[in-house]
Amino acid sequence: MRLPDLFSTQKFVLSIEIFPPKTAEGDQALKRSLETLVGYNPAFISCTYGAGGSTQERTLAWCQEIHQQFGLPSMSHFTCVGSTVEELTSWLSSAVALGVRNIMALRGDPPAGQETFRPVDGGLKNANELVELIRRLYPDMGIGVAGYPEKHVEAPSMDADLANLKRKVDAGADAVFTQLFFVNANFFAFRDRCEQLGIRIPIVPGIMPITDFARIRRITSMCGTVFPDALASRLEAVKDDAQAQFDIGVDHAIQQCEELQREGVPGIHFYALNKSDACVRILDQLIGKAD
Ligand SMILES: Cc1cc2nc3c(=O)[nH]c(=O)nc-3n(C[C@H](O)[C@H](O)[C@H](O)COP(=O)(O)OP(=O)(O)OC[C@H]3O[C@@H](n4cnc5c(N)ncnc54)[C@H](O)[C@@H]3O)c2cc1C
Repeated sequence: MRLPDLFSTQKFVLSIEIFPPKTAEGDQALKRSLETLVGYNPAFISCTYGAGGSTQERTLAWCQEIHQQFGLPSMSHFTCVGSTVEELTSWLSSAVALGVRNIMALRGDPPAGQETFRPVDGGLKNANELVELIRRLYPDMGIGVAGYPEKHVEAPSMDADLANLKRKVDAGADAVFTQLFFVNANFFAFRDRCEQLGIRIPIVPGIMPITDFARIRRITSMCGTVFPDALASRLEAVKDDAQAQFDIGVDHAIQQCEELQREGVPGIHFYALNKSDACVRILDQLIGKAD
């Protein structure tokens, strides 16, 4: 099922993001997590595309696994990094042949050692160009794009970043999935600005439950996510107690999700990091309200 069909037929579109593991043990652990998470009826599972295209085949293999073993639609992430238009086109045709009907169209981050993003000769500069390419080649493809409630790190201003989001929507995106955030007010302000700009497609908040403070600190410092001082202090106080960190992080995510649901979001995209325990705790609280 494609994104537009999912959003038009389901009141609440729950999605889970996974990444392709690097080892056989990782594959087995991810399968176990998914076996648990499918019990919560996600609308689809998305699978990331490794930095620099490093997981091209594994991303597609996992999309197939999602269709065949779990009976769910997939969304394959896809970036412009390191590929010419010809190579992007060829990968897209492999994805379509394997039954992928939704693509998260991204520019990608600059490869390690590069300060700024530079397309390869014959490649694409920004995600809006990738959306255009996909829409032209596959008019029926479901296309998701990234949105940044707290601004993309490279954007000179929120206005410039929102103008970019509008370009992606005008190029044919079907839904926006946001970068992770911990302050709901920033998401609501972003949603209002999108509304003012005439962005009328679903805007789905991306939630990453904090399960390991040090790891989340690394991730948020890379993507510029605001980390509330009060939450940081509570986590800092239990930095040697993994279970206490997990409990605080999950409780925060539950509060975020409950408020997002009350405010009528069309769904939630969980950055599950291939684990099920935090999502299970959150979904046990929310699921009654998601019907
Ligand atoms: C939901 C989600 C999923 C993700 N999945 C992956 C993944 O699987 N693999 C991966 O490698 N990365 C992933 N990322 C990270 C993403 O690749 C990075 O955030 C990347 O730096 C930007 O990608 P983008 O698609 O948002 O780029 P773009 O939309 O192209 O924007 C990149 C920057 O360029 C600016 N910009 C865009 N167009 C113009 C223009 N015409 N003129 C001037 N400025 C412009 C934007 O404001 C922004 O600052 C994901 C991010 C999100 C939010």
